[in-house]
Amino acid sequence: MRLEIKNLSKTYSNGVKAIQDVNLSIGRGMFGLLGENGAGKSTLMRTIATLQEADEGSVVFDGIDIARDPVSLRKVLGYLPQEFGVYPALTAEEFLLHIADMKGIAKASERKGQVEALLKRVNLWEDRKKKLGGYSGGMKQRFGIAQALLGEPRLIIVDEPTAGLDPRERNRFYNLLSEIGENTVVILSTHIVEDVSTLCSDMAIMGNGRVLLEGVPSTLQESL
Ligand code: ADP
Ligand code: ADP
Repeated sequence: MRLEIKNLSKTYSNGVKAIQDVNLSIGRGMFGLLGENGAGKSTLMRTIATLQEADEGSVVFDGIDIARDPVSLRKVLGYLPQEFGVYPALTAEEFLLHIADMKGIAKASERKGQVEALLKRVNLWEDRKKKLGGYSGGMKQRFGIAQALLGEPRLIIVDEPTAGLDPRERNRFYNLLSEIGENTVVILSTHIVEDVSTLCSDMAIMGNGRVLLEGVPSTLQESL
């Protein structure tokens, strides 16, 4: 089970070359994508998540060519976008049940079971009847992870997940993320070096739309 990105490029209509000839082969575990703001990380993440199309190149996950078969990709994908919007008037439980429905988990009992297990896992079970508008930043991030894990995805993409968290919330978030990396491909996009050095077994550094370096965080330490 691998994610293979080949010769991927995307130029926006304003002429910005957001990603240029990106090549990456990513296996199971936590993969860190590190880069400054504007490096092209979100463009790459959104392309993999099939929310936008590349101009050139291919992305294949576990045999699925995502440009040819985006529907199959979405079935195995969990995505926490950089700006994750919640409906403030819904409770955590209501929103997750709604997402479970949209993800095509057909049986009501199955939806309820998964939602309960996930809310417990991210420690929001006690708060499940509270409206999302009243959640703290850390609670919203944990909720974001819960929605990304619905449907037992095999490819998980989290974009800048610790931005805006205080150090204590960040540590708790690390613990949660490191539990899920084992049997899935997890890509963590961030501009925070510590996120990658704490969590990831492999990483790449992006700059100006290109992959500048690739390897194991400890050996890339000097570049960080
Ligand atoms: P990162 O996630 O690393 O901050 P982005 O992928 O968001 O990088 O941005 C890469 C470059 O593409 C930046 O120069 C950004 O301004 C530009 N960009 C991003 N999204 C768009 C868009 N929808 N239209 C035009 N330019 C964009
Ligand atoms: P408080 O600041 O009142 O502790 P938090 O939202 O930080 O509020 O935490 C609420 C509860 O959730 C606490 O019991 C805490 O231990 C737990 N918690 C917070 N973040 C995480 C996390 N990432 N993973 C697991 N449990 C967490």
